Amino acid sequence: MRLDGIPLWDGTEPRGPVDLTWEPDRITGLSPARPRGDDLCVIPGLVDTHVHLVGYAGAGSADFATWPLVTNRDEQVLHGAAHAQRAMRHGVTTVRDLAGDEAQIALRRAFDAGILPGPRVQVHGVVGMTAGHNDLFVPPASPQRKPTADGPDECRKLVRIWARAGMDGIKITTSGGVLSIGDKNIWRNYTREEIRAIVDEAHALGMLVASHAHSEDGIRIAVEEGVDSIEHGTLMTRDLAETLAARRTPVAPTLLINEAIAEGRVPVTEEARAKAAELVTRRDVLLAEAVRLGVRFVLGTDANGHHVQFGDQLAEVVYMTRVLGMDAGAALRAATSDAADAIGMPVGRIAPGLGADLVVLRGRPWERIEDLAVDNIVAVVSRGHVVAGRLPRPELP
Ligand SMILES: [Zn+2]
Repeated sequence: MRLDGIPLWDGTEPRGPVDLTWEPDRITGLSPARPRGDDLCVIPGLVDTHVHLVGYAGAGSADFATWPLVTNRDEQVLHGAAHAQRAMRHGVTTVRDLAGDEAQIALRRAFDAGILPGPRVQVHGVVGMTAGHNDLFVPPASPQRKPTADGPDECRKLVRIWARAGMDGIKITTSGGVLSIGDKNIWRNYTREEIRAIVDEAHALGMLVASHAHSEDGIRIAVEEGVDSIEHGTLMTRDLAETLAARRTPVAPTLLINEAIAEGRVPVTEEARAKAAELVTRRDVLLAEAVRLGVRFVLGTDANGHHVQFGDQLAEVVYMTRVLGMDAGAALRAATSDAADAIGMPVGRIAPGLGADLVVLRGRPWERIEDLAVDNIVAVVSRGHVVAGRLPRPELP
């Protein structure tokens, strides 16, 4: 398959009009060309480093807290597949699920084997404490609980269980959170000894560790113990930003979800709304300063189909330029090549030999980020196959 004379933004910079060829799933040719007479361009498929595929994906809505408890796993996998395919059709050709289990691993394998069309998926298993952020998504009296681990030995064991299950990485929480029931953002999640044991064990087994952290203390202890990414990073004070910048630790700021919850634009409990509002009030000033100090922000939305939809990723990238003050090129890199590097996957770039994940769209998003909009998508190519829209016809000479 091919695109002729189309302006390319290759994951790091604009390259002018090119002829681009690929055969599933490998880019085979890229050479300078005469420009087309239209306003189309091609960019790499986007990479969302923080999603939750399994959530209600049908028409209408379902209750966020109870749906997972009243639906069996087999049915949930189908919803996860629908979310993943929706992301893909909106130009997000790689996603990392940060609270996975057998369901997400089944989806990853089905997509990789070509059983269903789907994006590239990475899955992290959660290692969290009793009464931690992840444990409190389920009401205290419910017997249907996800595994928890307390003390360094149990933590190591749960990391090993996830490695055995085929996880790509580990997710921990080092502060409380917004959607968990009955905790506070500032609650400590895990002692230094527990975090150290998890990071040591995960790294020994070749897995990255992502840490959910809103609070100052939660961000500090995670970065000091060498986690590989910070999720949210909301209350990132100046000294923390300097440390994160020096270490080049990626941060996924999940801007839209916190805002949607804080403003009550999506159905949430008053507890969650108040917790999000408390965070968002201080967030914008802190994170904009962090960008100026050189912190490496990457696209991570926390999309779950309830509070942020699969497909909202493009709006999140635009919003990163507004809240964080990044320029268009920096925001696009944060959503492609740099997001890919943050999760250790060879995607997010267009170059010979790499896989073929491409978005053809109208406009020049590296100059005008607002052009990165769902309505401007002309075609999406995932793993070399057109999965949305259609490729533009070659122009007659
Ligand atoms: Zn999340």
